[in-house]
Amino acid sequence: MTEVRVRFAPSPTGKLHIGGARTAIYNWAYARATGGKFILRIEDTDPERSTQENIDLIVRAMRWLGLDWDEGPEVGGPYGPYLQTQRFDTYSEALAKLDANGSAYPCFCTAEQNEMRREAIQNDGLAAHPDPCRCMGCEERQQRMAAGEPYVWRLKVPQDRGMITVHDAVHGDVDFDAALQDDMIIVRSDGSPTYNFAVVCDDVNMEMTHIIRGDDHFSNTPRQILVYEALGYPTPVFAHIPMICGPDGKKLSKRHGAASVEEYRDLGYLADGLFNYLALLGWAPDGETTVFSRDEMAQRFSLDRLSKNPASLDPEKLDWMNGQYIQMMGAQEFAQLLLPQLQAAGYQVEDAEQVARMYPLVAERVKLVNQAVPMLAYLFEDEVAFDEKSVAKILQKEGAGAKTNLEKVAAVLADCPWDCAGIEAAMRGVVDELGVKVKFVFQPVRVAVTGSQVSPPLCESMELLPREVVIARIERAAQVAVD
Ligand code: GLU
Repeated sequence: MTEVRVRFAPSPTGKLHIGGARTAIYNWAYARATGGKFILRIEDTDPERSTQENIDLIVRAMRWLGLDWDEGPEVGGPYGPYLQTQRFDTYSEALAKLDANGSAYPCFCTAEQNEMRREAIQNDGLAAHPDPCRCMGCEERQQRMAAGEPYVWRLKVPQDRGMITVHDAVHGDVDFDAALQDDMIIVRSDGSPTYNFAVVCDDVNMEMTHIIRGDDHFSNTPRQILVYEALGYPTPVFAHIPMICGPDGKKLSKRHGAASVEEYRDLGYLADGLFNYLALLGWAPDGETTVFSRDEMAQRFSLDRLSKNPASLDPEKLDWMNGQYIQMMGAQEFAQLLLPQLQAAGYQVEDAEQVARMYPLVAERVKLVNQAVPMLAYLFEDEVAFDEKSVAKILQKEGAGAKTNLEKVAAVLADCPWDCAGIEAAMRGVVDELGVKVKFVFQPVRVAVTGSQVSPPLCESMELLPREVVIARIERAAQVAVD
């Protein structure tokens, strides 16, 4: 069997959109699953919108997602260069081939002539109005070229071509009538190739076997098939994947908030979580598994499990997925991500070890790493602000004995062992000694130490704070509290 060769071919006109990232993931996974090659090709022929900065952003975003490519920018490869702007000689060669085999012709029609022809075609069909330059004799052509008349190159669509069937691995067979395809421009008057021409030349020269891309390109496919045929190259297998929609069912865009990989990264999403979530937008290993690693995907990916239906981005599910990865990632890795965020919030952090000890407090409570910053603020602030509601409901609840209980706890904490078990035993001792309900002791202490009645686990938090800080907070709360 021929080796599978697939590519991701972004136009570097901006950041890496998550739709593009998903296309890249599927191509990567297909290459890995089949032992083939994954190629990154930069389609930078739009001089106004393609920039080196955007190329760098795309490459970095792909690396961050954990993708690697066998050929392309940074890694090179035998089919290079991998930037379209560096491949113009290959387009000229392809054009020469099409000219020689009669599949392309120069068209000298002016914009006005083209417009008139378009109108005529609308009235009585394409067949009645073929491009007049289609059958121009050699002599006339040479004369007009020599006279410096501007011209474009068009593909000569065979008149008897009939139906063009796109065999698509996702959508099945879809027919397009070749008789309705006008002779498309393949090279502009300035000598630059059009998208449909350059993309096929590259896919041919790079020996692509499968084209997996967004179905916004589906309508280009019959035209591209005509170029493959003119070049005498077998058409690859196409797999057009449905667009990603926002929760409102409309095509995902800026209106829906974050749209690029970078933005998700900056919002605190993890590469593993975002990768897994994007992979699921249109593909699933089976009917059940939702959480899987890159390696698992690389083993299990197949085109026949790609979905035909548009996938919609569900922010809640993405958050859930990210939360799963926070729970799986472990304290050390978490600390590396949280440490700079705590520092950015202005907190005095000793080192990553200190942050790693906080991981169990929040691992199951946050969906995004940065949500841990406000949740852990009480571990860094000198004096916590007591949340008003908690003061009214817990510290100042008449008959709950908060004041006495806090004073008692402050006293016993002065010489208990300073770890979670020691702290808990000391507080339970107060419960027993006073014969009160557990919550009447623990809840006021929670408000005193964390500022709120809702917080990460109490004794685990207390052991991370210095004893004198905890006692000072409890004494301060006791002054506000009533019995
Ligand atoms: N450069 C095109 C894009 O960014 C992709 C072309 C293709 O995959 O065939 O939309």
